[in-house]
Amino acid sequence: MGEGVKVINKTIHGGYHFNLEGKPQDRLIELGLPSEVVIPLKQGFGREVKSLVKAGEEVKAGQIIGRDDLGISSPVHASVNGTVESLVKLESSQGSINAVVIKADGTIDWQPLAGHNRDWQQLSVDKIESLLYSSGVTSLSGKGIPTRFKTSFISNREVEELIVQGIEDDPYHLSLAALLAGERGDHFIEGIRILQKIMPQANIHLAVNSERQQMVKELVLRTGDPEWLALCSLHPKYPQGNEQLLTRTILGDRAKNSADAKKVVVLSVATILKVHDAVVEGKPLIECMVALCGPGWKENFHLKVRIGTPLKAISSTYLQQAANYRLIPNNILTNRAITDLSFPVDRSFTTLAAVSENKAKKSRSYSRTFLAAFNPLTEQGCDANNHGELRPCIFCGNCEEVCPVGIIPHLLDKHVKRNLISKELIRYDIFECIECNLCSFVCPSKIPVARHIKLGCQKLIDYGYKQQPAVDPEEEELVGDYYVG
Ligand code: SF4
Ligand code: SF4
Repeated sequence: MGEGVKVINKTIHGGYHFNLEGKPQDRLIELGLPSEVVIPLKQGFGREVKSLVKAGEEVKAGQIIGRDDLGISSPVHASVNGTVESLVKLESSQGSINAVVIKADGTIDWQPLAGHNRDWQQLSVDKIESLLYSSGVTSLSGKGIPTRFKTSFISNREVEELIVQGIEDDPYHLSLAALLAGERGDHFIEGIRILQKIMPQANIHLAVNSERQQMVKELVLRTGDPEWLALCSLHPKYPQGNEQLLTRTILGDRAKNSADAKKVVVLSVATILKVHDAVVEGKPLIECMVALCGPGWKENFHLKVRIGTPLKAISSTYLQQAANYRLIPNNILTNRAITDLSFPVDRSFTTLAAVSENKAKKSRSYSRTFLAAFNPLTEQGCDANNHGELRPCIFCGNCEEVCPVGIIPHLLDKHVKRNLISKELIRYDIFECIECNLCSFVCPSKIPVARHIKLGCQKLIDYGYKQQPAVDPEEEELVGDYYVG
């Protein structure tokens, strides 16, 4: 089994394989209906949309309650049946956004999208695009899913490469086995086929960890056509799944050309499943799957949650109450903790890590990360303590070894700390940094290397140095890499 599917083995320079305690089991549990939801009017890619409802109005789960057909955006929906209580402001990492509060009436049904069809091959491209837009699924990627509506900066006819990101590389992540359990594997394949219909020029690439290769090959072979996509098998190391890095890994030098890079769309496996659900089942974006990760939960598993559910509805049931935990959505290396538990789960949530607040004396001045490198099979603890004090750089080279874009973090760090902000930093490729924070994580001297590099980039921009868009490799010798604006 498996012969005939084109498999390309690739990997990035550097990176780090995490093996943290509290990985989620594949089990999926549905959280009971919340009594109230808070629906942000900006979720995922695109602008904030305008509310279409007022306090006191009755709404149905799946009903569009916010949209803006003029700006680049996708509609948002009521996720429960009930009554609009109020419109409020939410303070999020993206700033202040408006949100609609709905009191749920306790009924679980939802309103399907008009025109969906189990026999989706019979649907026109226009109808599929309309279903994707009305469902809100078009907001689920870094660049949006292009349609004839204003859901992305490019048109779907221009997309030349569709990369499906199935890599489990983040410190905590959704499990591919949980996502594709049972009939969901076939739904996933159908979801890609649906997108292929609206992006007819696109080559399809499916990127997965090497250990998931066989599972995915079998799904592809069930279609009876082993050659309609290229399977890319990668080592499971962070930040392999980063959109920019993955595009470069798969497309090589072509990804350096900004015109070509614009024609690439990267979508997650969870998004592909939502594409299927919107077009085949008429399901709007009213729920999402969130993995409860880290040592703070009573159990680690996947949870199906209505969008807009306040975090306290999850924490009050599943969080261990004996200690203090920091709740961090998605990537724990790059995201901030959420302290206000009235904050809702939105479309972007994939994981929710509960990391213990370990305030113990910082007496262990060695790096647990450094030691873990000697035995990668041992589960690493996960808490919010540095386990060591800030010390001078010992030139161990750890940061350089893990940096996925091949720059020298400790060198940049020293320049920024001495305020040597000049073109020299650009020659050392400071603008290549993708802010994965791995250099800070592995540093045994506890130096916030990534933070200093980000500061260096900001100072360069403030001083008028700008990152020039990537140019065609053939022109590269003629044009300087960067310019002073
Ligand atoms: S944060 Fe930047 S410099 Fe540090 S490892 Fe990641 S890409 Fe390299
Ligand atoms: S990991 Fe830390 S101590 Fe080691 S070279 Fe980099 S900055 Fe210096």
